[in-house]
Amino acid sequence: MKIPKLKIHTQILLALLLGSIFGAIFSINQTKLFISHSENGIIKESAVEKWESLTVYSAGEKIIANDFSSKEQVEIIAYVRKLIKKNSDFSITVKSFKNSNGEIVSEKEFREVKKVYKQKTAPMQIKWIGDLFIRLLNMIAIPLVIASLIVGAASLGDIRKVTRIGGKTIGLYLITTFIALTIGVSITNLIKPGSILSEDTKSRLLAAYESEAADKFETNVEMDFSQEVVNLFPKNPFEAMSSANMLQIIFFIVFFGISLSSVSREKSEPVINFFDGVSETMIKLVDYVMIIAPYGVFALIAATVSEFGFNILQTLFWYSLTVVLGLLLHTLGAYSLLIKLFTKMKLSVFFRGMREVHAVAFSTSSSAATLPLNMEMCQKNFGTSKSITSFVLPLGATINMDGTALYQGVAAIFISQVYSMELNIMQQLTIILTATLASIGTAPIPGVGIVMLAVVLRSVGIPQEGIAMILGVDRILDMCRTVTNVTGDAAVTVSVAATENELNHGIAMAAASGKQNAAS
Ligand code: ASP
Repeated sequence: MKIPKLKIHTQILLALLLGSIFGAIFSINQTKLFISHSENGIIKESAVEKWESLTVYSAGEKIIANDFSSKEQVEIIAYVRKLIKKNSDFSITVKSFKNSNGEIVSEKEFREVKKVYKQKTAPMQIKWIGDLFIRLLNMIAIPLVIASLIVGAASLGDIRKVTRIGGKTIGLYLITTFIALTIGVSITNLIKPGSILSEDTKSRLLAAYESEAADKFETNVEMDFSQEVVNLFPKNPFEAMSSANMLQIIFFIVFFGISLSSVSREKSEPVINFFDGVSETMIKLVDYVMIIAPYGVFALIAATVSEFGFNILQTLFWYSLTVVLGLLLHTLGAYSLLIKLFTKMKLSVFFRGMREVHAVAFSTSSSAATLPLNMEMCQKNFGTSKSITSFVLPLGATINMDGTALYQGVAAIFISQVYSMELNIMQQLTIILTATLASIGTAPIPGVGIVMLAVVLRSVGIPQEGIAMILGVDRILDMCRTVTNVTGDAAVTVSVAATENELNHGIAMAAASGKQNAAS
């Protein structure tokens, strides 16, 4: 019997599902800790499991008032890492635990602790396949953006058309970001997840993630508006390309493309043809890389599910729920509205056409890595023209992060609630404004949204230390907000293409009916 070959998006969705199951089956033992410590000058690795309590002492005094329970694996590891980084002299006492030989030990003190870590599970050992997949996607992104943007800008032709399309694009990006923030801020005021968090949990999270959070806002630069504008233009375009500074690349390439369309045909044609060839080649490369997508997605999701301490999700349940609810409302509400307003496309065609893109965004947590696939899918599933796609989408991947903005809004209000700060309407508006700017400045790679959150908090005087409370769940929420980010880019691309009559409905219909699917 011949087994039918599954379409690539079915394969990826299956990989997502099976990866989650595999990760869950081989999930980390959430109460087992490995303690690397020195005993009589010899380094020993001790495994402790199912303990009753864990206390950290310094010079005979408890450092943290309440003992840790065995459910706080992630917090303990972060807390010990902080102490080691600070070169603190401390010891750990664990009460009633099972050791590596399965014996119950009533109490043991571990001195000269070098490290506390979790076990390495099977899914964590195959994570490299996922990392390879992300790398290959990133490898394609910059050459693809450069080549297709040059062809796109040159084919847009005159500066008036570029300004018109640029205006529409940036306008829609800003409006959707504003809506996202309004949703985020409103539902956080409604649900009040910060008021539900107990004092004990608050101080525990703060203590555990304090130093990691401090690292985040130390690396953060002050936002100086005029300097940001100057920085849009690269001093050296090649430097911008090698450091993947997307915004600078876009500015340079747009000018390059426009100038190219104004030199003689004899000179411009070979250049355009060359970059057209490069762009086609890169798109072909996306198809090749997508062959390993199911494996990459499987490995990434399995490793995350297996490694992630779901206990922390329980601790921050209401906060995480608020973020996810906001993202769902925005993704299904605002983007549906855009599609309905500007196109004749059925919503089901749009969201079905985005399935692969969603799976890749979710598992890689990176808009940049998802960009090549998003560009390909917009053209093949929705029929957006090449010139619009190659102009609007890379710009979106760089400046349009609705999911990140919404998340920053929720996080800022949440932290203010935990600190019992009453924010007035002006302060909430300031959060909306700064989070809009901060999301524009967020790089399209994993985990940057939370770094830029420091700017938002500073704008209204919310303690930046509060970031420590939400660090533990950032990874999982990053995956979710990246899905919204890439959907927003695609929705605006489709809308702008429709207003410019550069949306081929025939292609969208054919793709939807399965006659032609990009990577199947
Ligand atoms: N990971 C997000 C993205 O690439 C950015 C962030 O919010 O950290 O879109």
